[in-house]
Amino acid sequence: MKRRDALKTIGGTIAGLTVAEKFIGNTKEAFADDKSKYHKEMLPAPGGKRVVIIGGGFSGVSFANTLRELAPDAEIILLERYPFFVSGPSHIDYSVGIKRLEDATRSYYSLREKGIKVIKTEVGGILPEENKVVASKGSLTYNHLLISTGIRMADEEILQLSENPAYNAHTWELEGTIELRRRIETFKGGKVVVSVPSAPFKCPPGPYETACLLDEFFKKKGVTADISVVDSNDKPQPPPLAQKWLTVFEKKNIKYMPNNKVVEIDGANKQLVTDKGDKITYDLVTLIPPNKASTIIKESGLGDPFVDVDPITFKSKKFGNIFATGDCAKVPYTKSAYTAMYQGKNAAYYAAIAMGYSAKEPAPIHNICYPYTSAAESMLIRVDWEKDGKVGKTAADDPKTDYRDSRSAWESTLLKSLFGS
Ligand SMILES: Cc1cc2nc3c(=O)[nH]c(=O)nc-3n(C[C@H](O)[C@H](O)[C@H](O)COP(=O)(O)OP(=O)(O)OC[C@H]3O[C@@H](n4cnc5c(N)ncnc54)[C@H](O)[C@@H]3O)c2cc1C
Repeated sequence: MKRRDALKTIGGTIAGLTVAEKFIGNTKEAFADDKSKYHKEMLPAPGGKRVVIIGGGFSGVSFANTLRELAPDAEIILLERYPFFVSGPSHIDYSVGIKRLEDATRSYYSLREKGIKVIKTEVGGILPEENKVVASKGSLTYNHLLISTGIRMADEEILQLSENPAYNAHTWELEGTIELRRRIETFKGGKVVVSVPSAPFKCPPGPYETACLLDEFFKKKGVTADISVVDSNDKPQPPPLAQKWLTVFEKKNIKYMPNNKVVEIDGANKQLVTDKGDKITYDLVTLIPPNKASTIIKESGLGDPFVDVDPITFKSKKFGNIFATGDCAKVPYTKSAYTAMYQGKNAAYYAAIAMGYSAKEPAPIHNICYPYTSAAESMLIRVDWEKDGKVGKTAADDPKTDYRDSRSAWESTLLKSLFGS
């Protein structure tokens, strides 16, 4: 068993063993030489006010910052597998040369300066009955836990993809973003396919923005590209923008193919295979795999694939000291940076209340997004949810240059509020 697979099995169920025995049993097999490392607590026992956060993305960082203000004497520990943060919304900009990645990159030092402990480590299991997480640097006991691990790309649901990751490049992850940029720059022309997974997926307008920006990029460069959007859904997402996207596609001559779920990528023959058995050929493909959540959530019994939480308090339906926010939570909100940031903030209020601090009830969640239709124009979508999580007011508007300007300011403001710059 590989080290990574072993970490994934931690927290799984093995009949007749206690949780701790399960953990020891799995690690004994996997880490015969260095298993003591995985038993050791990373930090001394908590003093009663320790909050552990798994995942330093939009919602995890927002939660940490807000809780720091509400609970000044709490011990806040953020576990993040990557050494720095890169803003997801900028991936698309970078892929077509609108933005530099370094402008969307932040370190975690601003959190450390506020006394939040940020530890670079990958969490492989959650043991809710023991109030413990298990990570590559050791285990850690918590009083309260926030899960904010975002989306996991389920490559395994597309035949041939897990074995052949080089067949594909997409901007839903950082590495794919860098590779897609390279492929776009060197593309000589032909059929381009953007494949969209079934909703829910993070950044619902993202695949359609990608199609529009690729169209513009290749036209400007004088490269002939015949662009198709192959969609698992029956209409472009999010639904309030569906008709507007169709109008944009028609103007740009982008072919839209709804109800086509890609189930296989045959890179050797440059073909996608759909659930209907149709074959779609391509010269350049960007296939966004099904969006699921980290397997540690299912293995710890907290939900499948997303964490089952109350949509107002973000508290787990099974464990009162566990919260989950953002893309990994089963909530009615759009899987977006904007709502993730507010979810993290709101969850911090409810966590502070649960820890005995005084905090007022936060305002309900809303979302604002400015999807690109070209490098110069964006649309507008705004959704306000009611206090109980039901959709309230929704506004959608056609492409405008003003919205394009708002988009740039929107992302800078989010980053500034999370990282101070
Ligand atoms: C191409 C693209 C364009 C987008 N455009 C927009 C947009 O225009 N507007 C908008 O609002 N949103 C947009 N988004 C969506 C937005 O980025 C996400 O919805 C948002 O990042 C979700 O925040 P989160 O905190 O739930 O998860 P993330 O920000 O994904 O953070 C999760 C963190 O958890 C860490 N992690 C995961 N598992 C582990 C583990 N086991 N151990 C340790 N660390 C772990 C990850 O490394 C990551 O840092 C876009 C996303 C992409 C990819």
